[in-house]
Amino acid sequence: MSDCIFCKIANGEIQSDIVFEDDKVIAFRDLNPQAPIHILIITKQHFDNILSMDSSQSALLSHLYFTAANIARQEGIADAGFRLVLNCNALGGQSVAHIHVHLLGGRQMHWPPG
Ligand code: 5GP
Ligand code: ZN
Repeated sequence: MSDCIFCKIANGEIQSDIVFEDDKVIAFRDLNPQAPIHILIITKQHFDNILSMDSSQSALLSHLYFTAANIARQEGIADAGFRLVLNCNALGGQSVAHIHVHLLGGRQMHWPPG
């Protein structure tokens, strides 16, 4: 989508600190980190959020999450623990309408998340 920030990051129009990329997904550091490690993993294809996907994207959604777990290993936070977050729509706290998983780690996470 032409006016989507994350599509622009995916196609290189907007610079970001990329930690992983393949033909389907791209991962980059959050501009406003909420933890010592805060990385966003997105699909290269635009979907507003998980509600815009269906079972034909099961493999892609699974790849998004397994990529997040692999990046946790790559960043050295897997054994200590980390959190994956997917915000959806306004009450879910979604501010960018392009599906993304937050990988948060490097500090103790709390519950409830607020
Ligand atoms: P959401 O609130 O939609 O779940 O998460 C959006 C995230 O994108 C926020 O954590 C915000 O800091 C991050 N973000 C917004 N714009 C940019 C940007 O241009 N570059 C990067 N790296 N992160 C961004
Ligand atoms: Zn997009």
